[in-house]
Amino acid sequence: MWFGGFQPFTLSDYPGCVAAIAFAQGCNFRCRFCHNTTLLHTPVHNVGLMNDDFVVKELENHRGSLKGLVVSGGEPTLQEDLLHFLSRIKDLGYKVKLDTNGSRPGVIQRLLKQELLDYVAMDVKSTMEGYAGLCGVPVSTDDILASIALIAASGISHHFRTTFGAPFMTEEALTQIKSLIPPGSSHIIQTFKPEFALDPELRGGRPSQ
Ligand code: SF4
Repeated sequence: MWFGGFQPFTLSDYPGCVAAIAFAQGCNFRCRFCHNTTLLHTPVHNVGLMNDDFVVKELENHRGSLKGLVVSGGEPTLQEDLLHFLSRIKDLGYKVKLDTNGSRPGVIQRLLKQELLDYVAMDVKSTMEGYAGLCGVPVSTDDILASIALIAASGISHHFRTTFGAPFMTEEALTQIKSLIPPGSSHIIQTFKPEFALDPELRGGRPSQ
């Protein structure tokens, strides 16, 4: 796999677990509010990126102090060798949390089946009608709904999350999104931070073309 960033320590990204975070390079969405803009482009020459071996070595070196790895992005499920990479992390004895946009339920299903995940956080970004507009690309809402159902029924720790901000989401839309969250699953509302948003209009600049 290829990672555009690695943070060796966090107490706030994996509930109840001292963890590192690896940020997978590349994303299939272009959410207007995204603030991870350097992670969006698919790796081509891999210049300045880190590979699996780098992350594995870091985790080998910090076995005593870290208990988990958060695999975030970008969108980790796009990379073909995610399953192999997570097998290596589990072999080291680490817990794994996956952050995903839910666009690839088939990959999530395989990871769950192989017991490679201990925690999943999935973004539910919009109402089904608003997904493509907010995420800047065509989105299969059937896939989003399939991922929600899979994760909710998985039996592992999980939560869903939505970034809420007045410029791109109404209270009514948020109420609709909440109705998509299955009973028994938690839903976290994240506050929109405009400073680094992908869409210049949300940063207070000129509308995107
Ligand atoms: S916020 Fe959207 S565009 Fe940004 S990394 Fe997440 S899914 Fe991709």
